[in-house]
Amino acid sequence: MTQEAFKPAESPDAAPRRQLIGLSRDELGRELAALGEAPARASLRAKQLWHWLYHKGADDFDSMTTLAKELRVRLSKHCSIARPEIVREQRSKDGTRKWLLRFADGCEVEVVYIPEDDRGALCISSQVGCTLTCSFCHTGTQRLVRDLTAGEIIAQLLVARDRLGEWPRATEGRLITNIVVMGMGEPLLNFPNVAAALKLAMDKEGIGISRRRITLSTSGIVPMIERCGRELGVNLAVSLHAVNDELRDQLVPINKKYPIAELIEACRRYPGAHNARRITFEYVMLKGLNDAPDDARALARLLRGLPAKINLIPFNSWPGAPFECSARARIAAFADLLNAEGYTATVREPRGRDILAACGQLKSASERTRAHRRPPTATGAEAPP
Ligand code: SAH
Ligand code: SF4
Repeated sequence: MTQEAFKPAESPDAAPRRQLIGLSRDELGRELAALGEAPARASLRAKQLWHWLYHKGADDFDSMTTLAKELRVRLSKHCSIARPEIVREQRSKDGTRKWLLRFADGCEVEVVYIPEDDRGALCISSQVGCTLTCSFCHTGTQRLVRDLTAGEIIAQLLVARDRLGEWPRATEGRLITNIVVMGMGEPLLNFPNVAAALKLAMDKEGIGISRRRITLSTSGIVPMIERCGRELGVNLAVSLHAVNDELRDQLVPINKKYPIAELIEACRRYPGAHNARRITFEYVMLKGLNDAPDDARALARLLRGLPAKINLIPFNSWPGAPFECSARARIAAFADLLNAEGYTATVREPRGRDILAACGQLKSASERTRAHRRPPTATGAEAPP
C-alpha cells in the first residue's frame, strides 16, 4: 500500500515527512524502529501513538504527552499527521454537512455527514473520481481518477470528527454512529486501502464503529464481493438499478463484465448475509426507464430467496444530467408492489440536495468538465447526439 503525505510537508533536511495516518499498529512500530526506537520499545510506543491518533484525535505530536519530549521532536522532524486541507465546508438546511478535502497532489474528495434522529452517517469516498462511468452518476463524469490511500480514506473520518467535536467521545451520544462507503469511487476496485481504513475505524481501542454499522456499496465487482464479506464482514449494498442486462449494460457499464446473474450469485454467497443482516439492493428511479410495475415484479422475482431489502433512490439530478427522476407516485407504487411481494422497500430521502451532497452528485470542484456521453433513451437505444 502506498502512503503519501496529505500536505507537501518537508522535513528540515528536505526529505518528505512520512505520513503516519492510515498505518496499522505494526506499521507504526516499524516507523518508530526506523526512527531509532529499540525494537522492544517501538511496539509499546506504537500503541501509545496509535491511541493518540485514533482515540484522542491528536493532530500534532506535541500534544502527545505520554511520549518522551525527545521522541516527539524526532517525530515532528521526520513524520506528519497533518490532515488534508478543508477547502470548503457547507451546511444544508436539513442539517447535512459537506466538506471538500484537498490532498497533497491537489486531488479533492467530498465527505458528507447525514444526521438523523437517533444516528448519523458519514458518507466517505474511496477514490478520486471513478473509472466506471455509470451514466446517471455525476462522479462517473470526472476524468481525473486515482485510488485514495488508506490514510486518505480514514482521514475523512478524522476530519469529520474534528469538525463535529467528537474526540475522544466513546460510543455514547455520538454524532457519527455509522459509516457508508457510498461517496466517490468504487470501493471494491480499491479494496486493500478501503479495508485498511475500515479496520482502523472498527478498532475498539480507537473509533470503534462496529462492522454492523458500516455499509459498503458496490456497483458489482463480482470477484471481490466474497473477500469483502470474509475480511471485513460489513453490510453490503449493491447498486442494481435494472433487472435485465440490456438496460443495466447501459446504466452500469461494468455489467458487461459481470452480468446480473453472476452478481446475484455472488450475493447469495456473501458471507454473513442472513435475514437479520440483509443485503441492500439500491435501485435508482429513472423516469420511463426502469420504473414500471413490471420492473418491480421482475425485481421481486430476481431477488427471490435472497436475504434482501430494497432501497429506491430518487434520481438526483446534476447539471447536464441526461435523465429525469420518476414521479413520486410512481416511486411509491413501485415500493408498494415490492412490499406486497414480501420485501422491505424503502425510498431514500434525498439529503443535502441544496448543497449537491445527495447520492451521485459528488464531484470535485477541481474537475467539473463533463465527459461526452450519449444518454440511453427509454427504449434502451442510444439517443441521437
Ligand atoms: N461506486 C459505488 C458507491 C458509490 S455510489 C456504487 O456505485 O455503488 C452510491 C450510490 O449512489 C450508488 O447506488 C449509486 O448508483 C447511486 N447514485 C449515483 N448517482 C446517482 C444519482 N445521480 N442519483 C441517485 N443515486 C445515484
Ligand atoms: Fe462509480 Fe458508483 Fe458512480 Fe458508478 S455509481 S460511476 S460505480 S461512483
